[in-house]
Amino acid sequence: MSKSKPRKTLTSATWAVCLSLLLIGGCAAQAVAAPTPDKILCRPELAASRRQELAERLREITGWRNLHFSEDGILRFGASQAEGGSQTARELLQKAARGSRLLVFEDASRRADVVFSRVVEGRWKKDAGTKPSVYLVQVDFKDFSHVMGDRDALAAFNVGWGVLHEISHAVNDSPDTERAGEVGECEALVNRMRRECGLAERAEYHFHLYPGQEQSQFKTKLVRLAFEHQEPETNKKRRLWLMWNAELVGGLK
Ligand SMILES: [Zn+2]
Repeated sequence: MSKSKPRKTLTSATWAVCLSLLLIGGCAAQAVAAPTPDKILCRPELAASRRQELAERLREITGWRNLHFSEDGILRFGASQAEGGSQTARELLQKAARGSRLLVFEDASRRADVVFSRVVEGRWKKDAGTKPSVYLVQVDFKDFSHVMGDRDALAAFNVGWGVLHEISHAVNDSPDTERAGEVGECEALVNRMRRECGLAERAEYHFHLYPGQEQSQFKTKLVRLAFEHQEPETNKKRRLWLMWNAELVGGLK
């Protein structure tokens, strides 16, 4: 996510990340052989605590209470019926699991060029012609820990929502908007998921400098991102805000 420029979509992505065959080659072979949901997995380096955090957020959103990462790092949806949650999120994950592309979660918490999350196309080092195309979903877990603001907006903006946004890019090839004041096609789908969960919706794709920050002499650069929540009793929309220090999270340039 960025302040002025949109995040690159798959169609405009010009960079690629090489994957080590040793790291996920075995998983890829398994993904081709089995028709069940093993197209979504994580790198072995993704710490157990990060996997648990991501799985917990996805359980909340999907209502799949048994969703988890298996020991070999594959995202399993679990056999139980959904309890609440978003039908659209479940459909997106099922579509990804049936698709031809491999989605690999990666911890990008030390990367300055990842603002919350992004998806980039990976490239096999060997035998690329015989392997499925692969997309790295890079998650900056630390960025999310810097976010503060209204509680109802915080519930609608975490690593779970971030990866669903990136998966939608990878599966639907839906773009982000370049215009201020708009949500964009990709985030509109994520907003539908939030609505199904009874949560606040993002009012805009881009974040902006907190009013007055342009003249600030301090190194801290506060930015804010707008959400709105429709109150069920009155049907009125309430504006909510999230904010963070963009010097820590990035995305200002
Ligand atoms: Zn995006």
